[in-house]
Amino acid sequence: MGSGTVDVALIGAGIMSATLGTLIQHLEPDWNVEIFEALDAPALESSNAWHNAGTGHAGFCELDYATRLPGGGLDVSKAIAIGEQFQVTRQFWSALVARGELPTASRFVNPTPHLAFVAGAENVAFLRQWHDALKEEPLFANLHFSDDPARIGEWSRALVDGRGAAEPIAAAYEASGTDVDYGALTRALIDALVARGARLHLRHPVTGLRRDGEGWMISHRTPTGIATTPARFVFVGAGGGSLRLLQSSGIPEANGFGGFPVSGRFLRTRKPEVVRTHPVKAYGKADKGVPGLGAPHLDHRTVDGEDSLLFGPFAGWDPRFLKSGSRLDLFRSIRPGNIGPMLSVAKDNFDLLKYLVGEITASPDKQMSALRRLMPSAADADWEMIDAGKRVQVIGRNATGRGVLQFGTELVVSPGNNLAGLLGASPGASTAVPVMIRLLQEAFGDRFDGWTEALRELVPSLGRSMNTGEDWSMEIRRANAETLGLAGV
Ligand SMILES: Cc1cc2nc3c(=O)[nH]c(=O)nc-3n(C[C@H](O)[C@H](O)[C@H](O)COP(=O)(O)OP(=O)(O)OC[C@H]3O[C@@H](n4cnc5c(N)ncnc54)[C@H](O)[C@@H]3O)c2cc1C
Repeated sequence: MGSGTVDVALIGAGIMSATLGTLIQHLEPDWNVEIFEALDAPALESSNAWHNAGTGHAGFCELDYATRLPGGGLDVSKAIAIGEQFQVTRQFWSALVARGELPTASRFVNPTPHLAFVAGAENVAFLRQWHDALKEEPLFANLHFSDDPARIGEWSRALVDGRGAAEPIAAAYEASGTDVDYGALTRALIDALVARGARLHLRHPVTGLRRDGEGWMISHRTPTGIATTPARFVFVGAGGGSLRLLQSSGIPEANGFGGFPVSGRFLRTRKPEVVRTHPVKAYGKADKGVPGLGAPHLDHRTVDGEDSLLFGPFAGWDPRFLKSGSRLDLFRSIRPGNIGPMLSVAKDNFDLLKYLVGEITASPDKQMSALRRLMPSAADADWEMIDAGKRVQVIGRNATGRGVLQFGTELVVSPGNNLAGLLGASPGASTAVPVMIRLLQEAFGDRFDGWTEALRELVPSLGRSMNTGEDWSMEIRRANAETLGLAGV
């Protein structure tokens, strides 16, 4: 490839590209990195502060990470895995803050306790079992359980004020939780990337990818016309736009994937006297038949120094894959290879369809009633509805070729083809660092071993489990909690 060839092209300026670009710049400072972004600025889609809930997912409160085992027990391994992943993310942010490559941590991460909250005798029994299953795990050793309304009221007045005494309630509380402004973080990472030599092309939507020798020819628009740029390695970090670009590349690894868009909405209040009653992020339990992404949560947020509360998510539906996308997105994503899986998903996921129809047709009264199940004293006049980001749920294929809806994050890597991309949205931004490290390992297998020493400077626990009480791990937790200004380790 010629001398004008880009070493690493990142499509999309969201948290995923920002994280991968930062890792690559540290590992290979001589590689040139270019970012192609369709919109006027980074972080205007899902990574924007108001387009997601800002939770630093660490497994402390998300009850849908637990699954019921046939004998009645609970499998909490997913909560532990997410906890481990967030520890990796914390180390990376902490290393960049300590080196002055990210601003003061309070500009993007704020200590905000996480709390799992339930009402009703059956749910209280479930939460007790959930807490029992986790409390011996070193990463969850500081998770406190209570079914005493007075104690829960110390954690959040909003959850108990106006609630009748007859109904049993319970909560599990973890002080070291976080609220993250992923938009501010993305912009800060991209500023640092550009300061170290990366080029950011705004208003440059990528329209297609074509093989070009060992690398790729990227077709994109520019503010004045159309252009092509050759690249040795391409990362498709286009959020909801990734599926179509991966399909256009023709790599076999993207075959068979489909996508199903779900829009999000939140109720928000900025009224200081209301916001003060809930200094935590409280996650409830999804009702039977409701998918995990529909579990209600009431989140304390800190964005641009202002505190607010968000409640949701409420689901909406339209066929666009990005907020800035086209109504033809869903239609254009249908291919001979994915139409079968997409149809079987529609047939097999009646619960999801029923849930979506219920959400789309829900009246404002019904939405406020959902909020009052967590915050009984919520007054209509204090809350406004805002649009959040889009999630494109991945439709994959099982061994028999039948479509399955995947609620996680799907890394698509084509090592021989120097191309990788990311589909799906959950648990999303919190796990950007471990997911991008996995991408490096899978896409650059021949170089990865040579990078481990430099990677350990950013993520000291690399390759070791943080779910241990050993001194080295506690020392890492203490050090990054201090750098990030977190409450507890
Ligand atoms: C309602 C909701 C709540 C969420 N809550 C949380 C949470 O609490 N915690 C958490 O960790 N995660 C959460 N997430 C998930 C998280 O927001 C996403 O996983 C994350 O922001 C995805 O980042 P990204 O970089 O992949 O995509 P994005 O941030 O969407 O960035 C993609 C970028 O690519 C650009 N782009 C698209 N197409 C093209 C193209 N053709 N050419 C050039 N550029 C293009 C877009 O303009 C955009 O800037 C939530 C998501 C939603 C929708």
